[in-house]
Amino acid sequence: MLLGLRAEVSARVERIEAELHTLTLSRADANDDDEHDPEGVTLSTEWSRLTGLAAQARSDLAEVLAALERWDAGSYGVCTRCGLQIPPERLEVRPFAEHCVACASKSR
Ligand SMILES: [Zn+2]
Repeated sequence: MLLGLRAEVSARVERIEAELHTLTLSRADANDDDEHDPEGVTLSTEWSRLTGLAAQARSDLAEVLAALERWDAGSYGVCTRCGLQIPPERLEVRPFAEHCVACASKSR
């Protein structure tokens, strides 16, 4: 299940980075004068949206990779903060959860 998740998240990171790359190219073609160029403004908006998505996807991927490492180390499903077992219901919703519900709510 975790491996499937990793494939899915990696694919998402790649897709977003490909989009970012395309956008970088169209940005390079576009006029630098963003403020007076309606298309430039659109590109900037799209750029901020995609960089946000890319950052999110990368952090998801990091979480999945960390979960896989814990799986290999035999500590998967154990809260990294208090050492208690993370309830299976929680792992179903967030397979790469690092903390039990109590610790996760404390860290926010
Ligand atoms: Zn905990």
